[in-house]
Amino acid sequence: MNNTTDFDYFNTLMVHNVGSRVGPIAPTIAPSAAFGYENAEEAEGIFSATVNKPLYARVGNPTNAKLEGIVASFEGGFGAIATSSGMGAISMVCTAFLNAGDELLCIGGFFGGTYSLVNDTLARFGVTNSFCEVDDFTHIENTLKSGVKMVLFESVGNPSLTLPDVQRIIDLCNQYETVVMIDNTATPLLLRPLTMGADIVVHSSTKNMSGHSAALGGVAVFREVKAEGDKLLNEKYADLHKIVKKMGKKAFIPICKKRAIRDLGMTANAFGSFMTMVGLETLSLRVERVNKSVETVALALDEKFPEGVSVNHPCLPTSPDNARYKSDFPQGCGPLLSIDCGTKERAFSFLNALKLVILTANIGDNRSLALHMTSTIYSDFDAEARKFLGVHEGLIRVSIGLEDPKSIVEDFLQAANSL
Ligand SMILES: *Cc1c(COP(=O)(O)O)cnc(C)c1O
Repeated sequence: MNNTTDFDYFNTLMVHNVGSRVGPIAPTIAPSAAFGYENAEEAEGIFSATVNKPLYARVGNPTNAKLEGIVASFEGGFGAIATSSGMGAISMVCTAFLNAGDELLCIGGFFGGTYSLVNDTLARFGVTNSFCEVDDFTHIENTLKSGVKMVLFESVGNPSLTLPDVQRIIDLCNQYETVVMIDNTATPLLLRPLTMGADIVVHSSTKNMSGHSAALGGVAVFREVKAEGDKLLNEKYADLHKIVKKMGKKAFIPICKKRAIRDLGMTANAFGSFMTMVGLETLSLRVERVNKSVETVALALDEKFPEGVSVNHPCLPTSPDNARYKSDFPQGCGPLLSIDCGTKERAFSFLNALKLVILTANIGDNRSLALHMTSTIYSDFDAEARKFLGVHEGLIRVSIGLEDPKSIVEDFLQAANSL
């Protein structure tokens, strides 16, 4: 798999997609909740999607539309929908595609919110699920054969840092005509699953896409629907066929708008979308910088940590994911690494000794962040779920920011040496 990202190409693309050459250079914020129509005929046209103008802000606004175009372009997608948060994007897609009685296959470790969405919330509405390890291809293929409706996985397990064989999973989903959604939050620009044959990519734009932690947001990006032989025309998606036949290549958008956003309202707001675009201008620069720093920090800590504290990242030769990291993620797999202090007490002492790194439940920020896992995001999870998600008592998740990597290493080392 040739997965090399030309960061310079994306630097040019991003700044010019976000800014305009003429008139206001920064994106315009359209905070209106409602939009006036020229006349009754135009109103009819807007509602039947023959006229492409804003209808009402719950189903889209011009600032969101600008953001959606930018994300679709750098992901290599056909269209996108901006949402209120990353969870909004994932729940929009799930509720648009899944009915009671359908099954969702979840591969690998998951972000806590996604795990509970699938395991608790969707289950309450009758959507069944199965979870498996990233490389359990027996389970993956058997489940696909049995007619599962959708497959979901993360480009990088958070916080387990397991790396999936993205291309192999996508190819299998295409072979069995099953919709596949990839959460690419940790790896914008580093991995572009739509160009590898995936159907849907989702992001929490709160994280790396913004970088500044000034806007909660999410986005789902979609491929173009094929004129003939598209997997959406498989019998198992019969309830979508009316929309697919009417809307053709852009059908993913009305499927999500009519079957989720319109009724559930997980819509992005104009100001949040504006802030996300401000972050996107520098995404390529930041991704390149952060992913270099992650390796620098992981290698230094691996060498210098005292006995009883260890660092985990797939760039380390001792990592079981090192071979896949080198072949499939040659420029990095996002801002995360993890630190194991052995026990909760030691992890707390370590975190409390940090002077530079900020304690918070976020990732992909321009500042370096850290958080103890079992006492926070995973406190509601039982032992079995924690084990599957790779979360143990001494585990600290770290997200590397833009600071001097030497300063980050120094802070972690002084904390470890204070134990
Ligand atoms: C944070 C996160 C989400 C949820 O995004 P929000 O914007 O917080 O709703 C989903 N997936 C991953 C991988 C995340 O890190």
